[in-house]
Amino acid sequence: MKIEINSIGKVINSINEPIAPALIKEHISIIEIDEQYIKGLKDISSCEYIDIVFYFHCNDEIKMIINSKRIKDKGVFATRAPSRPNHIGVTTVQLIKVEANRLHVKGLDAINNSPVLDIKCCDTSLHDIEKVHNSILAENPRIDIERCIKSTNRDDLLYKAGQLHGHICPGIAMGVLCGAEVMKMIFDKNEDPFDYAMTAQQPNCVLDGLMFVTGFTPGKRKLNLEPGDQMVYRIVNNDGKGWIIRSSDHNREYINQQLPDEMPKLERSFKVLKLDFNRIFDVEEIS
Ligand SMILES: [Zn+2]
Repeated sequence: MKIEINSIGKVINSINEPIAPALIKEHISIIEIDEQYIKGLKDISSCEYIDIVFYFHCNDEIKMIINSKRIKDKGVFATRAPSRPNHIGVTTVQLIKVEANRLHVKGLDAINNSPVLDIKCCDTSLHDIEKVHNSILAENPRIDIERCIKSTNRDDLLYKAGQLHGHICPGIAMGVLCGAEVMKMIFDKNEDPFDYAMTAQQPNCVLDGLMFVTGFTPGKRKLNLEPGDQMVYRIVNNDGKGWIIRSSDHNREYINQQLPDEMPKLERSFKVLKLDFNRIFDVEEIS
């Protein structure tokens, strides 16, 4: 059966080319609704989450089997890939703000100018949305960690890193802080951490924290140890671009002032997460 449908509005954001959905979701998008449908937005601000139905306008390919960097040999209907018969995307987003015919949303993975076909109030409970299904974890076990990185509260990240490290200490917290900043720098460039690897010198508590948060592990050949005893981390992508991060020469005074010796170890560890990364580490860009 042939069906004709009209868009009801469009997506406005700064992403003009298709990139990894997780990266688009980081941006706030605006959904601009066409004049004749504005009445339909009445009471929408009472919806905390809404489902957006949109059209993948930059993709005219149709594939029944999807093969990509992260998806291997799966039927299209078992994925969220855009190369589907009707090129329709459905994503649950958080409604941040409503301004006349403009909805500000977070979590949308549609690029700029995508036609919007429909909007629905999401009837799934908040708990269900925040929960990561095991089937999703099986595909992307680090999704939970990536969510914690993007959150302003990084305590959960430290508890999880402690599971790997065996205890929670200021050292691993320093690694968690550094790792979260590294991941943020990669996400800010709209790049995929998957394409990066790290070289480090000293195997210590900090390195365990960094390794846990970034996923740069020796088993995946994403972590190389080189001789030396400096806290220097070289993080580069396949093109040799990235950063060198060093413990800064003058950070002692700042750290001692923020984390006095008499403060209990556990309290000091969590306090590390709130420290100013740029006063502890020097970052040199490799371009
Ligand atoms: Zn430790």
